[in-house]
Amino acid sequence: MEQTGLTVEVDEAGNLIGRSGESDDVWTGSHLDSVPNGGKYDGMLGVVGGLEAVERAGRGAVVVFRDEERGCAGSRARAASGKLPRRYLELHIEQGPILLEREAPLAVVTAITGLARGELVTTGRAGHAGTTPMAGRADALVDAAELILRIRDTAAQIDGAVATVGRLEVAPGALNVIPARVTVSIDARAPDPDRFAALIAALGFEPTYRVEPVAMAASVQQAVRAAIETRGLPVVELASGAGHDAGILAAAGVEAGMLFVRSQNGGVSHHPDELTSDEDVALALNVLTETLARL
Ligand SMILES: [Zn+2]
Repeated sequence: MEQTGLTVEVDEAGNLIGRSGESDDVWTGSHLDSVPNGGKYDGMLGVVGGLEAVERAGRGAVVVFRDEERGCAGSRARAASGKLPRRYLELHIEQGPILLEREAPLAVVTAITGLARGELVTTGRAGHAGTTPMAGRADALVDAAELILRIRDTAAQIDGAVATVGRLEVAPGALNVIPARVTVSIDARAPDPDRFAALIAALGFEPTYRVEPVAMAASVQQAVRAAIETRGLPVVELASGAGHDAGILAAAGVEAGMLFVRSQNGGVSHHPDELTSDEDVALALNVLTETLARL
């Protein structure tokens, strides 16, 4: 940042900000922390790309939000302090296969999906695995299996919604005992408030952790869309299934937006095989620079 001629500051939360001195209330950037065994584009692309875009555009500021992967601690702290930019645009690798499938290098992000987590419990009756006839059983794990299928089908019926069971706790959890109680974890996500509420209601669980969906600003979406269209590229609109600092800022009233760049290798992310091509990165940097100049 100093080599680029930016004025560098670190705030109380550890966020790093480099200001060009021109339109410093328009920020771009991302995060530098990763997950164990993570890829090298998630976060880093938006920081390095943002630095280059600010340098090329000659305006704006680049931000490195601290500690994103464990729940956007840096951007949350910044939002709580109230010292926020007017606009924020984050370049990020898609972390999924949709742009690959659509044969498009870039996407305008329309929203950060809402996320609800909680549990459902099935109960049965424990008994001896050898002496209890099949006809008389109340097997909580068989009921849980049916529940998981219902969870899958419920999410599939709501456009853009997803739901995942990633963990089961089976009690008593012995090879030779009919399960008496199963705790089924639920991770449910949907792109806007109506579908988010409908999904949670249809799944029939009480979320213990809930983050509402947040729309990206129309002004930023429009500027990104225009920069993509100018290049004759297809305009793909995507809601982000993953959380991002842009969502925290948007919820705090910043006009925030995101630009996604196509993932290779099937869209794998949080994995060392995470990849995007040099050609797509070059296109993304052109669009990011032009958008930064317009905002
Ligand atoms: Zn990220």
